[in-house]
Amino acid sequence: MLKVENLHVSVENKEILRGVDLSVEPGEFHVIMGPNGSGKSTLALTIAGHPRYTVTGGRILFEGDEIHELGPDDRAKRGIFLAFQVPPEVGGVKIIEFLQQVLVELRGMDPVKAYDLIVEKAKELWFREEDLHRYINVGFSGGERKRLELLQALLVEPKLLILDEPDSGVDVDSLSVISRKIEELHRKGTAVLLITHYGRILGHLDPSTFRVHVMRSGKIVMNRGGEFVKEIEEKGFQAIFEECGCDE
Ligand code: ADP
Ligand code: MG
Repeated sequence: MLKVENLHVSVENKEILRGVDLSVEPGEFHVIMGPNGSGKSTLALTIAGHPRYTVTGGRILFEGDEIHELGPDDRAKRGIFLAFQVPPEVGGVKIIEFLQQVLVELRGMDPVKAYDLIVEKAKELWFREEDLHRYINVGFSGGERKRLELLQALLVEPKLLILDEPDSGVDVDSLSVISRKIEELHRKGTAVLLITHYGRILGHLDPSTFRVHVMRSGKIVMNRGGEFVKEIEEKGFQAIFEECGCDE
């Protein structure tokens, strides 16, 4: 479904991704780990179509089509959803109005039915109806922002859900509800690409369900089973890189 081939990406003429290869088939679950600055967010934002990231080589294919010429909105319509590392505040736009519009446009729903569905799903992520009348993320805590991202994903049911550090800045209780909702979407058939630096969220997920890719300096240097997370946590990235000979 998603095929990233020898992808090179630059920001402001600085090369950040230096030949990334990655394949995700429908319904698969992949985790990307790696030290700070290794290019994880760059990969996520490039797949989603952020205009600041320039593809200088290689290809991104989604369901067989090259997508790197498409804008982020067209990629979203095709079923790619990115949950941001730091979800931005959008002053002046109410959550409920935004989500209603998403459901009307993406799923052709009636606005009144959409409203009811949003309130129902929001409760599962601990939002009360009155919270939905606030502006997007304005004054929200880290945990609330991440739960709101998950609410959007639950409503959209994307083909590919990319989560950039869903566990950063999140309290333990939010982390557990977020993990359950990721699993719920995965069970329903959404393919997941989950990026995490600390691997904190992985303690809440079943390692037999995902593969782990490790990034270093703009490349994916390892591809292992889910149990490998434990080894990374015990030894740290540096020791792992020395052992595998992927040290520069
Ligand atoms: P990670 O998510 O793995 O921590 P990033 O993809 O955020 O890594 O960053 C990889 C490298 O690219 C870092 O050295 C970072 O400073 C640089 N970088 C990322 N985005 C930008 C940007 N918008 N402008 C300048 N440098 C950037
Ligand atoms: Mg990042």
